[in-house]
Amino acid sequence: MSKIIVVGSSNTDMVIKTNHIPIPGETVLGGNFFMNSGGKGANQAVAIARLGGDVTFITKIGRDVFGKESLKKFKEEGINIDFTVTHKSKPSGIALVTLGDNAENSIVVAPGANNSLKKKNINKAIDEIKKAEIILIQLEIPLKIVKHVIELGRKYGKKVILNPAPGKKLEDVLYRNLFAVTPNETEAEIMTDVKVVDEQSAKKAALVLRSKGVKNVIITLGSKGAYLCSDEFSGIISGYQVIAKDTTAAGDTFNGAFAIGISKGLSIKETIKFANKAASLAVTKLGAQSSIPYLEDLEVHKN
Ligand code: ATP
Repeated sequence: MSKIIVVGSSNTDMVIKTNHIPIPGETVLGGNFFMNSGGKGANQAVAIARLGGDVTFITKIGRDVFGKESLKKFKEEGINIDFTVTHKSKPSGIALVTLGDNAENSIVVAPGANNSLKKKNINKAIDEIKKAEIILIQLEIPLKIVKHVIELGRKYGKKVILNPAPGKKLEDVLYRNLFAVTPNETEAEIMTDVKVVDEQSAKKAALVLRSKGVKNVIITLGSKGAYLCSDEFSGIISGYQVIAKDTTAAGDTFNGAFAIGISKGLSIKETIKFANKAASLAVTKLGAQSSIPYLEDLEVHKN
């Protein structure tokens, strides 16, 4: 199996459960509070490690209790943290998560040190990047770093997977060198101006992204699975039916598993089936990293 580099954010999630997510100006009395390691980059790196991948995580944390805790966890997960950088003064990233009864969530992120990831931090890992086959990246770090990483991927012939979350309209030039882009329905709409509500509209949005030069467009569709548009296949690859408790990190688990499938040389369709399965298990548990499954969990749920 080939090496995967994840470049992205690391946060600590502060979660409150509530039966009603407040609207602006409203205060509600919630239920239990819990803290969880999160951040899209970190979640995806953890997913790769738990699913048996060889992963190096490039991220920036603060010199605080949250940063120290994150480093400890990454090590325990078996993630290579040789290129994880600690900022001198900025705090670690924090996400405030409100988790509703119906498994929906609303999240505000204070990026802290994540916003200070610099090109020089990435360049220090050039030899590691050269050794990898896949680079997985999201949009919780500065866009100029995302562009730099995509450019390095092009230069060294790597498969770059962009999970465009949180959603952002991107310059066309960014798409040209992507092996895959993996928006959810909302992100796909932000990127293409096509409202994704069904297979037809998913196809329309996917074709917009394909026309910009992305090889494989995958739009995740929640419980329905994911829409794939590639040379090999276009259509929905169905999800797995589970009882959803908390969808936090479903997308991150999907992306981590997707990277693993590619690193194992699975076909793109098989890769998405594997990613759907891993992500469906993540929605059956509360929290971000706490809900990400291990390879053994997938083997138990064979279907
Ligand atoms: P997140 O809640 O992590 O932000 P997301 O909005 O990025 O998720 P989704 O499209 O909701 O992404 O979900 C990603 C993948 O997770 C789906 O493609 C599917 O494989 C799986 N998934 C999500 N929700 C469910 C569900 N209710 N039942 C089964 N699988 C699900």
